[in-house]
Amino acid sequence: MKRVLVVEDEIKIARLVRDYLRQAGFEVLEAADGTAALTLARSEKPDMIVLDLGLPGMDGFDVTRALRATSSVPIIMLTARSEETDRIVGLELGADDYVTKPFSPKELVARIRAVLRRADATVGGGEMIRVGSVEIDIPKRRVTLEGREIELTATEFDLLLVLARQPGRIYTRAQLLDAVHGVSFESYERSVDAHIKNLRRKLEADPKRPELVVTVYGVGYKFSDA
Ligand code: CA
Repeated sequence: MKRVLVVEDEIKIARLVRDYLRQAGFEVLEAADGTAALTLARSEKPDMIVLDLGLPGMDGFDVTRALRATSSVPIIMLTARSEETDRIVGLELGADDYVTKPFSPKELVARIRAVLRRADATVGGGEMIRVGSVEIDIPKRRVTLEGREIELTATEFDLLLVLARQPGRIYTRAQLLDAVHGVSFESYERSVDAHIKNLRRKLEADPKRPELVVTVYGVGYKFSDA
């Protein structure tokens, strides 16, 4: 049974999440503040942490930072719908995904399962990545789509590789830029959009309605896990 640590100071939400996760077959640990969360995370080693960003004292960002110093435990943040920058900061600190409040418990469970699946997948270690009709031969730096070879620039290849290693994982522009060894300034972050556009032109059946490299509005991009 997978163990999920739920960090939430609002008792109503904490209860709702706990009950729903238990029903969905998870073991649930609970913490109402950051300090308790870190203590439990260290002693109980949960498989996943659901972390509210707005906590008294140490906030969700501090908790993420502290966790990431020693652990790669999957983290899903709970954020307010209006706080786009929070999501970006959280993802850049190393959170795996986010769910915006108010959320349905059903959606949260689906996200938890998806992130756990990704964490268990070994796709990143091999020399070949296959996602849907896309095949990436990493040592040869070759990409085929439905068996047909696609010519990519070095930057396009590196971007695709990062995204396709973890389908469904959301990357911010700064993270993608970092992955292709660019320097992260706002103007350069926009250059990621240009590379993505080129990548779509080469990979997507209809680049205007991308199905592989998907935009996450206001945050960044992900490779489709559908
Ligand atoms: Ca809160």
